[in-house]
Amino acid sequence: MAITDKIYVKNHQQLASQLETSFPKGAFSGATLDILFQGEGLAKLDDATRDRVLDFAEDFMDCECQAAPHCGCPERKFVAYLLELREQGMGPDAIVDVMTDDYMLYAYPGDVLSFLDDSVRTLEAVETLADVDGEEEVAAETRKRRQRLL
Ligand SMILES: [Zn+2]
Repeated sequence: MAITDKIYVKNHQQLASQLETSFPKGAFSGATLDILFQGEGLAKLDDATRDRVLDFAEDFMDCECQAAPHCGCPERKFVAYLLELREQGMGPDAIVDVMTDDYMLYAYPGDVLSFLDDSVRTLEAVETLADVDGEEEVAAETRKRRQRLL
C-alpha cells in the first residue's frame, strides 16, 4: 500500500456531519477527493476547516489533467511534500504534526517511518544501477537526494 493510502482526514466524523454526507476516512480515496476537496459542500464547513481544505485543493489538486483529481497528481505531489519535510530535518512525528496543522490530515508515525525507509532504499537501488551503468551524474545526484533524507 502506498503511503497516500494511509493518510487520513482528521475529525473525519465531524466533517462528515458538517457536510451532511459521508465520505471515506482516507484523504486520497476517490470519493474523499470528490466530496470533501472538490465538492460543493465547502460553505458548510467551519472557517478553520474550510481554509485547510482549500489549501489542500490548491497545493495538490491544481493540475489540468482530464482525469483530475483521479490522475495520480495529488498523490505524487503529496509524496513530494512529505519528502520535502524530511529534507528539512523532520522526523515522522513532526511530519505528522505539520500535515495536521497544514491540511487537517494525519498518519501513523510508523507508516511515515516505513515510507521514508522505503524512499531511501529506492534511491539506493537507483544509485547502484546508475553506478553499474556508468551514469556518474545520475548516481551523484541520487546520492545527494538520499543523503538529504537521512
Ligand atoms: Zn493530474
